[in-house]
Amino acid sequence: MSTSADWIARGDKHIAKTYGRYPLVPVRGEGCRLWDADGKAYLDFLAGVAVNSLGHCHPKVVAALQQQAATLIHCSNYYHIPQQIELAEILCANSFADRAFFCNSGAEANEAALKLARKYSKEKHGENRFEVITTLGSFHGRTFGGISATGQEKVRLGFEPVVPGFSYVPFGDIEALRGAIGPDTCAVLLEPIQGEGGVNVPPAGYLAAVRELCDANGLLLIFDEVQVGCGRTGTLFAYQLEGVEPDIMTLAKALAGGPPIGAMLAREAIAESFGPGSHGSTFGGNPLMAAAGIAAMKVLLDDGILDNCLAMGDYLRRRLEELRSRYPFVVAVRGRGLILGMELSIDGAAIVNKALERGLLLNCTVGKVLRFVPPLTVTTAEIDEAIEILGSILAEFG
Ligand code: PLP
Repeated sequence: MSTSADWIARGDKHIAKTYGRYPLVPVRGEGCRLWDADGKAYLDFLAGVAVNSLGHCHPKVVAALQQQAATLIHCSNYYHIPQQIELAEILCANSFADRAFFCNSGAEANEAALKLARKYSKEKHGENRFEVITTLGSFHGRTFGGISATGQEKVRLGFEPVVPGFSYVPFGDIEALRGAIGPDTCAVLLEPIQGEGGVNVPPAGYLAAVRELCDANGLLLIFDEVQVGCGRTGTLFAYQLEGVEPDIMTLAKALAGGPPIGAMLAREAIAESFGPGSHGSTFGGNPLMAAAGIAAMKVLLDDGILDNCLAMGDYLRRRLEELRSRYPFVVAVRGRGLILGMELSIDGAAIVNKALERGLLLNCTVGKVLRFVPPLTVTTAEIDEAIEILGSILAEFG
């Protein structure tokens, strides 16, 4: 049996060096727990970055995958795929949308959204109408469209020239958005809560004001719910928190409870611009991934997961606030449901490393915001365990 050290040494030789990886080799997961190749257990409050929202290897997702894998794994999108149809029905019945396009990741879902927005706007308003306004601190994926849309310079460095037609305004600043709209603007793309940018929640009323601006100027409103969708905020979709509906929404991460899938949802009048041959994906919405998506969505809708997310979100937030009141270098606790951020005035990396050593998985965004995105099935006992570990680490810095 290979140890973690063996795997890390082998990986160093042949895996592209695109990630600064922690010295952890996960080999098994169940619920909120992960075990490494040496048999050490971890409490997983990162959940594959908000992917394993139902916990690792949820039995209903596993059963759906096993059954579908033994029946039909893949077929072309040249044909009609029952599992994809059923998943689209579930998503449309529970959202603003009328149609779904399936792909394999969040970046691809955003590519689809951007392509659809341009095509619809050019058809409706003319050739020049292709510019998209996004927000500073956003993250929309690593494709060329994704890095062009992302409001963080660092993701574009070395890859220029990027896709033209994007501009960026401060998140939460409605006047800046108003000022950025021009005759060639076709859409506004934003995350209802910024995830990678530091768990940033916009001021109350911001999303409604963005919707109004879009309507007044004939712009499409695209919500990137890749990270905050599918139950993470305690509502099925984050836009439902404030009742502000987009025209297009992108999903991925938790949509199938672990397996890779992405989706772009749109209203009928807009989705019509994607006719046959306009866009596509070989694997997108294949029977295996779509079967997992159906199972995951049913668990989310029928098994009390959203209620647990709200209750545990409140509890975790309270426990994090206790830590904030004890340590002056904890500046703020924010978020909704079970996407919570703890902003520090000190560097967060050392805390994340110590947590890993002590069996708690977390991460840190923008250098100083600890991010908590545990499975939505997390229990009070697991939260208490995480707070115990985190508290003992913070005490060493205080
Ligand atoms: N959009 C948001 C809001 C994300 O958080 C991410 C990934 O973190 C993406 C898009 C990109 O998703 P993927 O890594 O699946 O391409």
